[in-house]
Amino acid sequence: MSSYPHLLAPITLGGVTLRNRSLMGSMHTGLEETGDWGRVAAFYAARARGGAGLIVTGGMAPNREGGVFPGAAGLYSEKDIANHRKVTDAVHAEGGRITMQILHAGRYAYSPDCVAPSAIKSPISPFPPRELDEAGIEKQISDIATAAARAIQAGYDGVEVMGSEGYFLNQFLVAHTNRRTDRWGGTYANRMRLPVETVARVRSAMGPDAILIYRISLIDLVPDGSTWDEVVQLAKAIEEAGASVLNTGIGWHEARVPTIATSVPRAAFAHLTARLRPEVGIPVITSNRINTPEVAEALLAEEMADMVSMARPWLADAEFIAKAASGRAARIAPCIACNQACLDHTFSGKLTSCLVNPRACHETELTYQPATVAKRVAVVGAGPAGMMTAIVAAERGHHVTLFDRADQVGGQLNLAKQVPGKEEFHGLVAWFAAMLDHPNVALRPGAEARADDLTDFDEVVVATGVIPRDAGIPTEPGSNVMGYVDVLKGAMLGRRVAVVGAGGIGFDVAETLVHDGDSPALHPDLWRAEWGVSAPWQDRSGLAADGPQPHPPAREVHLLQRKAEKPGRSLGKTTGWIHRASLAMKKVRMQGGVNYERITPEGLWISHGPNREQPELLAVDAVVLCAGQEPERGLSAELDRRGIPHHRIGGADVAAELDAKRAIDQAARLAARL
Ligand code: NAP
Ligand code: SF4
Repeated sequence: MSSYPHLLAPITLGGVTLRNRSLMGSMHTGLEETGDWGRVAAFYAARARGGAGLIVTGGMAPNREGGVFPGAAGLYSEKDIANHRKVTDAVHAEGGRITMQILHAGRYAYSPDCVAPSAIKSPISPFPPRELDEAGIEKQISDIATAAARAIQAGYDGVEVMGSEGYFLNQFLVAHTNRRTDRWGGTYANRMRLPVETVARVRSAMGPDAILIYRISLIDLVPDGSTWDEVVQLAKAIEEAGASVLNTGIGWHEARVPTIATSVPRAAFAHLTARLRPEVGIPVITSNRINTPEVAEALLAEEMADMVSMARPWLADAEFIAKAASGRAARIAPCIACNQACLDHTFSGKLTSCLVNPRACHETELTYQPATVAKRVAVVGAGPAGMMTAIVAAERGHHVTLFDRADQVGGQLNLAKQVPGKEEFHGLVAWFAAMLDHPNVALRPGAEARADDLTDFDEVVVATGVIPRDAGIPTEPGSNVMGYVDVLKGAMLGRRVAVVGAGGIGFDVAETLVHDGDSPALHPDLWRAEWGVSAPWQDRSGLAADGPQPHPPAREVHLLQRKAEKPGRSLGKTTGWIHRASLAMKKVRMQGGVNYERITPEGLWISHGPNREQPELLAVDAVVLCAGQEPERGLSAELDRRGIPHHRIGGADVAAELDAKRAIDQAARLAARL
């Protein structure tokens, strides 16, 4: 008997039976824009081989004006069909099923040609949209239906019509973006005309058996969004128009509420799908922050949904379902919802990958081939870089000895998991530990490796990590100064604290210092109160009438940096705003452009600007140093002196701007060629 009977049960959508109830949600990876469709096919085929019940491609534009950016991939013409055929053939050859998402960006398009129901600029694109006239609207519907017909010609099992997240169809639905007075605006019946008409035309273009997924926004989280009654009215009309299944969309991209970041509780929005389910006769799919088979199984067993959509978890592990089905769930690499290698890359114009799985979107270029000669490999340091090296080298057939002076594996990840809102790091450390439980890996915890211990190996990998940088601030005796490691290990502090350094760790430390009580990331009710999220059946759009109600801060915290810019600019492109907003809600005083004059028992003396003006005492009980790191190269230097060749990776190689993403990627690439 499987541990996941509901997740692994088949389901029929339209005329297609799926082998299980997992949907790989749509993600823009940037692969299509490389023009190498063999690589696109390899990416999706790996997920089909790994058991995905139904794959949805990244958003494909139905026409030029609907592309998310100029040159965005699409199915614009007959000529594109052959490329898409490579993908569908590869997925079907693995026993999988695949639908193409049709994404019209409307006013979210980063293009001067963008169009919308009304000429209202979006806050996330610099280009004001052109208001469509009647003929323009008909063209959009017709182009979407034509793209659907071409998708069927290209071998897709159907399409997903993207109607949520604030894209084109969603823009027609709400007064926030639709101020029209013709038959496409005004009353709700008029505003929903476009999505409903589009679905009807797509169904007619594809025929009765193809899968038609409509992604419906269940909670807009923007002013003047939909009410719950409107959502239900739309869902019924979309069913009537021919959809086979409804997928859940959560929040517009311009919403100021996080919806997929790591600090959002798991399955935080599944109750909305559950509320919609009895209103319609077709299956419903739930989504957002579902990253383990246990969570997916529970949602299905509790009849909250008929299928579960996971997107980023399929980047983290292409064998998600295959491992769940074969009793290897502990070996599923967990998506920690960090966005660092996926969405942050997308929004920087880089190819998507995954922090925990550097092979994601690099399937054809980064391969782990069996080693021709099994070598004895020593890896020193069981942080992210060292652990990944050991795992890949062992999988390839090498015999690895992994040393770490600590009693447990994980390195800096063990600090990260202490930060409120970063609880997913517990799962990541557990995954590394499970993967290191391998016949080819000998763990040496609590062992400080010296050069003498490393002479008998064919390859030596030094992954000794970093040491905190000494900020060099003059400090009087009796002052209370500590490092971030002490704080994250639970050191006691007073009521007022100054944090020196506002990088990723400074923000994490500030978050830890202001936090009090249970972590909202583990308690959906607390999280909703913190961010002002209500239910759309209570408040239109799901924005609580009384706004965010953050828990009072545990301490008064100053977060400081020397650069004369807004603190937090170095944080992730898609998550930095969340960290800044979260600390602002806790009244953390963030300042750039400060000089650190000295630390005394009374507190921290600072001045401002290049001329060191306005000296000021921040009367605090403790000063916490988060001033970056330096490489820990003691062992590497000793090996150099002794002439013992070795590879240096991770923080021991370059500490500046080190994060787990770079460390893991560098490690995987080294281990792939050892
Ligand atoms: P960091 O991001 O390099 O930040 C170091 C901070 O210390 C900066 O604010 C810097 O600002 C300050 N600083 C540098 N030298 C200093 C000196 N001599 N005296 C006083 N202040 C100094 O390093 P980190 O915060 O230690 O983080 C390390 C890495 O982990 C980073 O790459 C980060 O991306 C990653 N990380 C990421 C996250 C995340 O959420 N994604 C979380 C934690 C860590 P000024 O020079 O302007 O003073
Ligand atoms: Fe998940 Fe982070 Fe990987 Fe993106 S980079 S898929 S958020 S673990």
